[in-house]
Amino acid sequence: MQNFNDTIAAIATAIGESGIGIVRLSGRDALKSADEIFISKDGKKPSEFKAYTTHYGWIVEDGCRKASPPAEFVDEVLLTVMRAPKSFTREDVVEINCHGGIIALRKTLDLVLQNGCRLAEPGEFTRRAFLNGRIDLAQAEAVLDIIRAKTDSALKVSAEQLKGSLSKELGRIRQALLDALSLLEANIDFPEEEITAAETKTLCAGLACAEKELSRILGSSATGRVMREGISAVICGKPNVGKSSLLNALLKQERSIVTPVAGTTRDTIEEIIDIRGIPVRIVDTAGIIEPRDLVEKKAVARSRHYIRNAGLAIMVFDAGRKMEKQDEILIKKIRGKTAIAVVNKIDLKPRLQKEKLGRFFSRIVEISAKKMKNIDLLEEAIADLVYKGKVTSPEPVLVSNLRHIEAIRRAQKLIAEAANPVDNGALPVELIAQDVKDALGCLDDVLGRRFSEELLDKIFSEFCIGK
Ligand code: GDP
Repeated sequence: MQNFNDTIAAIATAIGESGIGIVRLSGRDALKSADEIFISKDGKKPSEFKAYTTHYGWIVEDGCRKASPPAEFVDEVLLTVMRAPKSFTREDVVEINCHGGIIALRKTLDLVLQNGCRLAEPGEFTRRAFLNGRIDLAQAEAVLDIIRAKTDSALKVSAEQLKGSLSKELGRIRQALLDALSLLEANIDFPEEEITAAETKTLCAGLACAEKELSRILGSSATGRVMREGISAVICGKPNVGKSSLLNALLKQERSIVTPVAGTTRDTIEEIIDIRGIPVRIVDTAGIIEPRDLVEKKAVARSRHYIRNAGLAIMVFDAGRKMEKQDEILIKKIRGKTAIAVVNKIDLKPRLQKEKLGRFFSRIVEISAKKMKNIDLLEEAIADLVYKGKVTSPEPVLVSNLRHIEAIRRAQKLIAEAANPVDNGALPVELIAQDVKDALGCLDDVLGRRFSEELLDKIFSEFCIGK
């Protein structure tokens, strides 16, 4: 447990009008600061309150006028006291529930800042929770993931991590590696005592098991990442086949989470939709095949960029029109990608040669975007591809997750390298021991048993102030 000299404070809730807003204090002077600015109805001071009790009272500007109730007050509040070490930060924590108006909150915060607190940095409460050993680094990062979760399943993945599931598994592997290391080091220290056949067997089994476990975690992390960050899909197809109508149909059917249209131009529209719990970032491309001017040329370049980066291509065809050269050009562009063919406008007289599509697409879904027909079948096809691992995640949005994955991958590689000579019976003990040590280091990076200030700065700067 680290002893911080200062006490931090911040508004912990979103700024804006709301029912309540919370000012949070943490540190050794949290109760003293609260004493200065709070008058309780029962006449007691916060420093006299029992832990985990909530008290009704008033925030006052002038500490001298301590009549209860005060003639004048900043806000009428509920104040909760949590005492070290049983709090989020393991320090004394005070939470003041104000009315959620911006002025009342700001004034309350100003008052605690004038009375011994300093404004918290982004993520500093969570940083203290980590530095004081209440949670490890992977769990601290999970707090951020929970705040940012955009779908139910994203929340579930992050909550598991906060609960410590990842930490527990890595802890087990860590122990197995420590056991292997002590065996190896005994041999380095006493080289005359050869490693027995039984010990070699234990060592092999231990390393192989650790390697397998790490691979399993890595395997599941791909799904974990897709759940958290979603996939990116691109809708393409020649003009007028119904791309925009399809996007609208998907939006109508599902809950649209955000609509980051800013920055994009007329030619591409981007939405994030929750499809069966998976955040899907969908880009509707322009569908221009032969650009006529510079603007269209740029649009084509942008579409190409989106298609290249998308994990899934949804190519739309018009059931009422025959296949054309334009369709073939576009099919070529998405070659090699996981792709779904959507045959739209099934309400029209069929003219499209559907049998031609089977050659290029593993899934063909027939819909009518205008009549909202079979949209659920398309969603099913998308979700199925994701769950089968056919759609890879786009660029990771959170460095933290990638950080874990990279460290675990490094550990897994090192152990695979270490396990190999053990298997062959040739035992360059020092080399194996070094690999195991390095692998342990990688796991320690994830858990935050080993960290640098810069890394912490980078991780916690992504948090909001007050968390
Ligand atoms: P985009 O250029 O590919 O984005 O195509 P739009 O979404 O703008 O649609 C082109 C035209 O096709 C519009 O007039 C739509 O109303 C029409 N359309 C879209 N979906 C259907 C459908 O399922 N059936 C019919 N009959 N028309 C449709």
